[in-house]
Amino acid sequence: MSNHPPVSTIEKEVGRRRSFAIISHPDAGKTTLTEKLLLYAGAIQIAGSVKARKASRHATSDWMEIEKQRGISVASSVMQMEYRDCIINLLDTPGHQDFSEDTYRVLTAVDSALMVIDAANGVEAQTRRLIEVCRARNTPLITFINKMDREVKRPLDLMDEIEEALGMSVVPITWPVGMGKSFSGVIDIASSQMRMFKAGEDRIGHQADQLVSVSDADLKNKLGESLETALTEVELVQGAMPSFDLEAFLNGQQSPVFFGSAINNFGVQEILNTLVELAPAPKSRSTIQREVLPSEKNFSAVVFKIQANMDPAHRDRVAFLRICSGYFERGMRLKISRNGKEVRTNNALSFLSQRRDILDEAFPGDIIGIPNHGLLQLGDTLTEGEKLQFTGLPFFAPEIFKMVETADPLRTKQLRDGLMQLGEEGAIQVFKPMLGGQMLLGAFGQLQFEVVAHRLKSEYNAEVRLLPARYSLSRWVSSKDPAMLKKFINDNSHRMSEDVVGAPVFLAAHRSELEVAQQLWKDIEFHALREHA
Ligand code: GDP
Repeated sequence: MSNHPPVSTIEKEVGRRRSFAIISHPDAGKTTLTEKLLLYAGAIQIAGSVKARKASRHATSDWMEIEKQRGISVASSVMQMEYRDCIINLLDTPGHQDFSEDTYRVLTAVDSALMVIDAANGVEAQTRRLIEVCRARNTPLITFINKMDREVKRPLDLMDEIEEALGMSVVPITWPVGMGKSFSGVIDIASSQMRMFKAGEDRIGHQADQLVSVSDADLKNKLGESLETALTEVELVQGAMPSFDLEAFLNGQQSPVFFGSAINNFGVQEILNTLVELAPAPKSRSTIQREVLPSEKNFSAVVFKIQANMDPAHRDRVAFLRICSGYFERGMRLKISRNGKEVRTNNALSFLSQRRDILDEAFPGDIIGIPNHGLLQLGDTLTEGEKLQFTGLPFFAPEIFKMVETADPLRTKQLRDGLMQLGEEGAIQVFKPMLGGQMLLGAFGQLQFEVVAHRLKSEYNAEVRLLPARYSLSRWVSSKDPAMLKKFINDNSHRMSEDVVGAPVFLAAHRSELEVAQQLWKDIEFHALREHA
């Protein structure tokens, strides 16, 4: 059994945790920035390891690339580093839009997010979607405008664009002087000091950053017009935008903005400092039963991601847990609230500096990985015994459906097993129609179907055919009146199915069918979002 440390120790550890996700549209520089954050926190010595893995992906076709992404070691999706006094947990999010559901779930596991924007492209499609999720959860958001060493959009225009996309005020903390070849650094607005740009490389330079007052005569002579322009812009934004308000940031109503160039290590340290100084430590979280404080003595955690492991032959999976309260010690026994089953944690994984070290202890805000063979499902809550169910892990009603059948009827069982596991992992949504034997798959992008078909073949030896399905939308159904729900399900059996956790789902070919059902069945609630296991 765990020997709980005193609450004061847990409080102290909670206070120094910073868990954040890094989000961006593909190619904005997320991988590069991740690497540089690790470099500056001393978690790696030379940048290049994350990048190298990514380079190898580019050589392959699009969906093979995704397949590889999945295969990339579990370690690269969660990274822990120590910077100043803080333990920082960085969670990566999949870049491809077809996997956005996975990203939404990762965002439920963090306390803040870092948004990387390519200064030449501004706010791109994928970023908009991610912003919506952050907004819905009031996640504090830090903005990093990357690639200032290129010819990019005007900073003032970028600010307007981001403000419009975020639907919240943005406050520049730094401001760029020049861009592209004439990019010479950023002004730290609060201190009126300019940090001079130096092209960086894969290692940290030995010289400290060069800071010069913006009123320095030599600096004015050297930079001339570009400094004047920047100072005028700073005056403009200071007049037009509110000043930084910590509380508004923490409530997800205001985003501090930094300019830099990740590939040149420029602006990276400011991001780390901001995480330490401004980003929130873990807060209380809601369960169906009650509010859970991070500093509570007893352990609780929620499974927000399940990832198939590297070796397809073993079919083991790693469940990623976000610790919400208490203290974790390797070997402690945990219970799944859903079914009371016990989980051993002898081989739990931590993610310190990209190595899958076996961890000894962990605190709220930390992520741990528990290898298992299907015991743990997305959304599961683990505790030391108390029955709690964290809310807020989203499953969205899919937008594209396909029927699936095996090419070889003798392998029907393998197909079912494979689909159940992939469904539990969240790779795709799997529905069992009440009538008829074929399983139905639901997804957000075509790519998800291709990846699932590929995995069924390679991991479960089940070759499948994907056939068009007549459905175009689904809704989870519930009712305050169990008898009414039963009647609804019986009367609509040709349109009913169950998802992987057995929740009833109504399927419709057209929106009008849903509308008719909603008209007829006033006591039934139709949900586009399922929130917990
Ligand atoms: P991700 O898809 O968001 O992870 O983007 P990457 O980190 O892989 O970066 C995409 C491309 O942009 C790569 O070729 C990087 O070398 C390049 N890149 C990243 N940061 C910068 C930067 O600050 N300046 C310039 N010029 N290129 C950058």
